[in-house]
Amino acid sequence: MDADTAEAEWVSYKEKISHSTDAQDSIRARLDFLMRDLLSSFPNLPLKDKQREFTHLQKMAIFRRDQQTCQVKIKCDGVRVVWDNWHCDHKDPWSKAGPTTVENGQVACPACNLSKGAQVPVA
Ligand SMILES: [Zn+2]
Repeated sequence: MDADTAEAEWVSYKEKISHSTDAQDSIRARLDFLMRDLLSSFPNLPLKDKQREFTHLQKMAIFRRDQQTCQVKIKCDGVRVVWDNWHCDHKDPWSKAGPTTVENGQVACPACNLSKGAQVPVA
């Protein structure tokens, strides 16, 4: 973005924060402006994977790779799970931009997965 365009966007932003501040298009334009500014200030900021839920095929691959055993082991010692009662867990939490991939997935027994959720520190 060249300096003139950046200046024009800044002037437009300032106009929108002083006039019609509650209009939907004004709010949208301000949000877009701030998001662009944020993302150019932090170019390596990872965005959350849009897909949060593992697909059936991903779950099958993870279940097989982990040999049906809990990998979290907070509440168990690696208990064997059955297909109808296990959680597909993100190793790097989805909420912290962990991707929904087979590599980042793991088998968790329900007890461990629920405990893990409680242990994630609030950022
Ligand atoms: Zn477990």
